[in-house]
Amino acid sequence: MSIAREIPTPETETRGHLELMNIELARRTEKWYVCSRCWGDLTMTEKDGGAVVECVNCKEETYGYVTRHWTERRRNEDRSSCIEVTRMLQRIGVLPKQERSREALMKEMGF
Ligand SMILES: [Zn+2]
Repeated sequence: MSIAREIPTPETETRGHLELMNIELARRTEKWYVCSRCWGDLTMTEKDGGAVVECVNCKEETYGYVTRHWTERRRNEDRSSCIEVTRMLQRIGVLPKQERSREALMKEMGF
């Protein structure tokens, strides 16, 4: 999970956090987008008749935004890869073969 978050995503990144935003656009950005770097939630602060939208973690270091939808898709891909790799490592004997439910596996992997 953390590895995926560190991969730069210039093709989907939307810049503009330093610019004063229309308040309605800022509200929508806060709701539908997350930080492009850490996937953290965004928060808007009204200022000079507009608003600034920053990541709750990165604050003034906020670089850009990506849609929540995009990050959910990436997380699902990561989950699938994790299950696939676990099975492969069990098959070749690196990990012990254990009969566990899908739910138990997901919990072990931190999902
Ligand atoms: Zn962030």
